[in-house]
Amino acid sequence: MSEVKTEPVAAQLVDSILDGPAGSIKFYDAEGNSPSGFHFQCPCGCGDIGAVKVAGPGAWTFWNGSRDKPTVRESVALATNGKPHWHGYLTVGIWRSC
Ligand SMILES: [Zn+2]
Repeated sequence: MSEVKTEPVAAQLVDSILDGPAGSIKFYDAEGNSPSGFHFQCPCGCGDIGAVKVAGPGAWTFWNGSRDKPTVRESVALATNGKPHWHGYLTVGIWRSC
């Protein structure tokens, strides 16, 4: 599968990430951090789920502290069977592929 490009999609907060629409996110607590990170539905709508850490070991270098309009850096990538699938940025609650 080659890397997909998508139109910008909103990172909508959901209660169950498994049932969420493309790009939806759900924060989780772990390792004494609240939040520790969030899971997200692939912005392309394929149903794959990825994770971004915002605190603790391995965390992304930047999170703006917002749950409903999050920005994270560096970029976010999803791989399927070890191959690049979706790659882009989450900025002010919007996923944009690059
Ligand atoms: Zn996908």
